[in-house]
Amino acid sequence: MPAKKKKKEKKPTQKTVKKQTKEPKVAKAQPAEPQPVETQPAQPQLPEPRRSVAFIGSECYPFVKTGGLGDVMYALPKALIKQNCDVKVILPRYKCIPQEYQDKMVYRGEFMMDLCADGRSFYVGIMEYVWDGVVYDFIDNEEFFSDGNPYTNLIDDIPKFCFFAKAALSALNFMDWTPDVIHCHDWQAGLVPVYLRTMFEDTPVGSAKVMLTIHNLRFQGIYNIPTIAYWSGLPDYVFNKDALKQGYEDANMLKGGLTYANMITTVSNTYAGEIQTAFYGEDLDAHLRYHSGKLRGIVNGIDYDMWDSAKDELLAAPYKAEDVIKKKKENKKALQEELGLTQNEDLFVIGLISRLTDQKGLDLVNAIIPEVIDGNTQVVVLGTGDAKYEDSFRYYEGAYKGSVCSNIMYDEGRAHKIYAGADALLVPSLFEPCGLTQLIAMHYGTVPIVRETGGLKDTVEPYNEFATTGNGFTFDRYEAGLLLDAINRAKTTYFTQRMNWDDMVQRDMNKDVSWDNSAKQYRDLYLELKP
Ligand code: ADP
Repeated sequence: MPAKKKKKEKKPTQKTVKKQTKEPKVAKAQPAEPQPVETQPAQPQLPEPRRSVAFIGSECYPFVKTGGLGDVMYALPKALIKQNCDVKVILPRYKCIPQEYQDKMVYRGEFMMDLCADGRSFYVGIMEYVWDGVVYDFIDNEEFFSDGNPYTNLIDDIPKFCFFAKAALSALNFMDWTPDVIHCHDWQAGLVPVYLRTMFEDTPVGSAKVMLTIHNLRFQGIYNIPTIAYWSGLPDYVFNKDALKQGYEDANMLKGGLTYANMITTVSNTYAGEIQTAFYGEDLDAHLRYHSGKLRGIVNGIDYDMWDSAKDELLAAPYKAEDVIKKKKENKKALQEELGLTQNEDLFVIGLISRLTDQKGLDLVNAIIPEVIDGNTQVVVLGTGDAKYEDSFRYYEGAYKGSVCSNIMYDEGRAHKIYAGADALLVPSLFEPCGLTQLIAMHYGTVPIVRETGGLKDTVEPYNEFATTGNGFTFDRYEAGLLLDAINRAKTTYFTQRMNWDDMVQRDMNKDVSWDNSAKQYRDLYLELKP
């Protein structure tokens, strides 16, 4: 397989794709005499037909990641390859991408591109890196991508992502690679469908269908019309109220993308419904209701290579479902020791790994911590974000020494240790498009306690003590009392019905939260767009 892939990566045109699908047949016809055939393990049968997809987005693990989008841009292409998709991922070449990856990039070409309304031209370089069967093409331009962070402020980000959207499409034409589907992500790639159906309609890439995935509707790329019109160089007619125009004087890059996309997806079924309501719709609910015929929800998965408790070298005691109960205690004690908490494997340890913003339900958590800390319970927080939450968690650490530990930092290694060492993980979000932390937690045998919203509702089945079914503890309305009640139900089960608790840990570890299922659904949508 890898050898074939290499061939394809050289010139992944539709022609080569067709040729490749024929290769196995030729190979089959060759052996003339009976031979012991089973020397190689059977290759998994790939579903036909093959489809080519270009991902366009602003972040991708391990090059640059600020949240769940980075995880998806990494894991979904990998999973799509197993679904017989040919995937290219187009990303900005930020200066902050670690040097080890910069060093591996290979120069693919360069050209000048007109961008602005007054015809200002910009350099576009293409640097390529092929890894695990996925081709990553980085759009190079120092003027736009030299900040230490992928996102800085809208004044800089608006021109940056106007440039990126147009450069990504121009790069596909330049590389002579027309995919069946262009799959773009969030507002930073929101102008891709708009460019595609206007200025690029009559170019080779114009024959591609386009899908736009909303990972978080809160972020939309809104700025005044003259600025976006100038930087994008888009024709005046797209700045109408059915496309980019929002209110009286603003343009909304995500809204424009939603209008021109052939298909819109978001990262869970429940969120797909929620964003059509005023409460969750972030002022785009009416627009989304209008386009609801092309809106679908597909939950995210997690990458099983990245999150594998049996092979996780960061853990004190790696484990499988068979020995999770014993090994979790060892991981718990190691975590308590590392964080300076009271060391006792019988305590109930609750983890919270999150960006510290109002989206994540932290007001509820802050309101109840004093009632949660009862001598039998510890709380471990890992996150960075708004100062008011950072400060309140620091306060609780001081007030409940030995029982609360607030790690105000971004630290992947510590996240792994908390997923493994905690008994339960809290995700009480105000809204949650999909959420990855509850998926990782379940995969690590850590019981999620979540609010029934968005992807949390779709992925965590509430525990039923009579039928002993379910994966975690849930509550519905956004109220601190209900969160406390859910935590207390979890504690009661942990301390008084340990067998039921342990069974739930087993169910969680055995639950399929991989990308396989979701990748199949994306593939089905690609086929729906390009039968
Ligand atoms: P969002 O994208 O809204 O931030 P998700 O639940 O979709 O939330 O994804 C969060 C991802 O970021 C998870 O992989 C989680 O483990 C990781 N993460 C969040 N905060 C931290 C942190 N402080 N340190 C390490 N990893 C973190």
